[in-house]
Amino acid sequence: MPELPEVETIRLGLQKYLVGHTIEEIEILLPKMVVGEVQRVTGTKVKRIQRYGKGLVIELDNNYSIAIHIKMTGQFIYKGTRVPKGTKVSEKVGRELPNSATHVIFHLDKGAILYYNDIRQFGWIKIVKTADVFGLPFFKELGPELFPSSGQEPLTQEQFQGILKASKGPIKPLLMDQKKIGGIGNIYANDALYVAKIDPKRKAHLLSEQESEALFEALKQVLTKGLEVGGASEWQYVNALGVAGNYQNFFQVYGKQGKKCPRCGEAIKKIVMAGRGTFYCPGCQK
Ligand SMILES: [Zn+2]
Repeated sequence: MPELPEVETIRLGLQKYLVGHTIEEIEILLPKMVVGEVQRVTGTKVKRIQRYGKGLVIELDNNYSIAIHIKMTGQFIYKGTRVPKGTKVSEKVGRELPNSATHVIFHLDKGAILYYNDIRQFGWIKIVKTADVFGLPFFKELGPELFPSSGQEPLTQEQFQGILKASKGPIKPLLMDQKKIGGIGNIYANDALYVAKIDPKRKAHLLSEQESEALFEALKQVLTKGLEVGGASEWQYVNALGVAGNYQNFFQVYGKQGKKCPRCGEAIKKIVMAGRGTFYCPGCQK
């Protein structure tokens, strides 16, 4: 699932290309994808794009917003004259737009279009008053995050340690619990635990202060790398122009079962924790 770096990359693209456009019409091809006061969108201008954890909010100039969670396979693809020449749209988008994965089409002024694709259809789009965005369960329950981009206070080392101390469960699923910490999913949780040399099965509350500090820094490191290279294009992830990211070329342990650990030479192992593929080096993650 796209995580903080992927969703932030989409946000930056939408902020650059979508802001200032007027939404002339919203065409909904799959009714279940969009809920709320749909008629409020027509004729509005896009003011700014916010991100809260893995959630996106397109703020409109009439005090309404389009709140979105792209879940596993959601894609926003902008087409317009402002798109740089030579932009290489990923094959993850499909050759033609719209296609069978296109469920919502925003017709914009100046002939531009914003497509919402979602092969698995787990994503959602909700149209609500901007003041009510934080009444939506996902946004309301979201924990603090390491790199907020929409005015929130960032998660501190002290808060992080407090979250770990208060949990009786293993560390890895805790890192991915959006109600505790926003924005981290399977890829960056696996890689951060590897960087910090911590076994993903360790009980969170039993980590030492040094380990918790190392993990906090490791999370920052892997998320920063993810942001720098435009996210990881696993699944269907592409940016707002339909271009793939590059973090998959920098995976530390994620998806590398059987490969030799570059640090100690031991084979990277894959287990399942809380239903998710978990990758770690039994040699140096203690
Ligand atoms: Zn190792």
